[in-house]
This record gives sequence, structure tokens and C-alpha cells, in this order.
Amino acid sequence: MNGLRLPWALAHLAQIGESVGERIPAFFLDFDGTLTQIVAHPDLTALPARTRDVLRLLARDHVVCLVSGRDLPDLRRKVGLAEVHYAGDHGHRIHGKAGSGLELEVGPGDRVELETASYELERRLHPIMGTVVETKGTSISVHYRQVASDKHDLVGQIVKEVADISPGLRLTGGKLVHELRPRLPWDKGRAMLWLLGQLRLRRDDVCPICLGDDLTDEDLFFAARDWGVNIVVGDADRDTRAEYRLANHEEAATLLEAFVVQDEAAQTP
Ligand SMILES: [Mg+2]
Repeated sequence: MNGLRLPWALAHLAQIGESVGERIPAFFLDFDGTLTQIVAHPDLTALPARTRDVLRLLARDHVVCLVSGRDLPDLRRKVGLAEVHYAGDHGHRIHGKAGSGLELEVGPGDRVELETASYELERRLHPIMGTVVETKGTSISVHYRQVASDKHDLVGQIVKEVADISPGLRLTGGKLVHELRPRLPWDKGRAMLWLLGQLRLRRDDVCPICLGDDLTDEDLFFAARDWGVNIVVGDADRDTRAEYRLANHEEAATLLEAFVVQDEAAQTP
């Protein structure tokens, strides 16, 4: 269904609670545009202090995993919590919470193709003011949020041409970003299933709660279909597998707070 027509999650907390039922919620949360506001340059994005507190409280009783297209070290730095799990680079690189010992990298055997593509993108996009080529552990992002709109097609064309000469990489996209990712059967959804499997929580009595705003979050929603609760954040004027919507990152924090309050009520004798 179109994201804008979905029921508003904050008006359906009781219904969401019923879907979870007696099961244990586990939280899989995108970062940019879901827990934070999208800003002009990805470096300037910051997690609001209130949301960081909510994540910390939530992680006392639940699995909380940040699932992002950001590079893993960057994501960990931006969030700054040892209590949560991290799946960066669209789930291609995972770092479990402190003490879990969980680490995974699903990447190309060598980085030569990635580095070649990155060099080629830098060289060809350099004359277009505002493009940012970000080379991560296993993938490349080309951000064009700050590029004049009449140059957007040109950026897309150059990225496509570089993708065409990089057979080991596939082109995906999101909000004002192109992504070149390893051509491997892996995504945010598979990262979620892997993590739950490692934690022995890939079970019917566990209920994934997935929040995301962008196209790659649909992979997460797909993996949690008929099982968890999927919520799209922001003005998602597109078809989505989510069942509920939230307007913005502040509402996402409010929803997560409702789970914390419920935990605290359950623990009060
Ligand atoms: Mg996002």
C-alpha cells in the first residue's frame, strides 16, 4: 500500500501491542531519516539525545539493532552505545553489542573493484559541484543532495556507467543517494535474520519491530513480513510493505518510548 495511506502507528499502539502479544519484541531500526532528521551533508547528522536515551533503556530488556547504509565505524560513532547491535553498510558488516563477540562481513573477496569504481566515480563526478563519493567497507555511496537539480540526471548517468563496468557491484538507490553494493544475495533483512539466528532468537515467540524510511528498508520489512511489525517513517509516497506509518524521527522516538514505559510497568511489583 502507499505509505501515506497507512494507519498512523501512534494512534494504534494498542493494536500494535496486540500484534506483539506475549512475544518478545526485538528492534531493528534504520538510522538516517528514521531516528534522525536528514540534513544537507551526511556528516552533519546527529542522533537526538532523547533518542539515544530511549535506545539505551530499550536495550536493557531487548535486542536493539541499528541497521543502516552507513559505514559500520561511522554508524557506531554516531550512535555511541555499547548496548546495541550494529549492522552497517546495508547489513554487509555487523558488529554485535559489547560482550556478544558477534562480527560479520559479507563483502567481495577483494577490494580492487570497489576501489577502482570509487576512483572512477571521484574522477568523473569531481566537476559536478556538491557530489559526495563515500567509499565504505563493502560499498560506495554517491550523495547528491547538494547538487543542483538540473545535474541530478547527469550524476545518475555517470554512476550507471561506472556500475556497468563493475560487474561485481550492483546499483541501488535511496533518497538522493546512489549506492554501489557487492552483487551478493545480502541485504538488511538477511542481516536481521542472521543476527537473530546467532542470538538464538529466530523463533515464533520473538517479534521483530522494524522501522525505516527508505527503499533498502523494504528488505527489512520483507524479512519480517507475516511475523513482525513494520513501520515506515516519513513521507513515504510509494508502495511499501510496512503496515503502519510515522511522520518523522521524533514520532519514532515516541513509539520506542511507549515500549520502554511498558517494560517499566511490567517490572513494577
Ligand atoms: Mg534511512
